[in-house]
Amino acid sequence: MALFKPNWLVNRIYNLTPTELKRHQINAILTDLDNTLIAWHEPNYSAELQEWLEVMKQNHIQVIVVSNNRKKRVALAVSDLHIPFIWNALKPFPFGIKRALRHFNLDAEHTVMVGDQLLTDIQAGHLAGVKTVMVRPIVETDSWNTKFNRFLETRIMRHYYQKNPETTWREHLDD
Ligand SMILES: [Mg+2]
Repeated sequence: MALFKPNWLVNRIYNLTPTELKRHQINAILTDLDNTLIAWHEPNYSAELQEWLEVMKQNHIQVIVVSNNRKKRVALAVSDLHIPFIWNALKPFPFGIKRALRHFNLDAEHTVMVGDQLLTDIQAGHLAGVKTVMVRPIVETDSWNTKFNRFLETRIMRHYYQKNPETTWREHLDD
């Protein structure tokens, strides 16, 4: 069950600030793409993503996209932003995340995986030994291959809320 228990539940990835990340000694963010950084059906990055990346860069927090989507989709969305990205990451398996840790010489203890899906992003993060932040999906709809996971996720989350009634979505890590 701990595999399905995010360390934090935060409304949006863009709420994460360098100050709060540093307070938790986090210096690298691995992030899902679809419905975490941009809507799953949106081909391009947003001004908000660009600005948030700039703030992270200025504060020496590395951001790497770890997506299950295909290369074409991920590259089109983020390659102009000059951030590294991993495609076909095979989440919930930890391979993609482990590859990012190894390749960029990151310390799992100081890295978070951020994503909107419990069964893929959060589970993969925990299997790879990093901390996890679950965010609300940017749009309510999902691609066809996400719908079944979302169905299971709703059930797991319900169980989790029942066991942990104090759990709520927060604006920031320490709210
Ligand atoms: Mg996603």
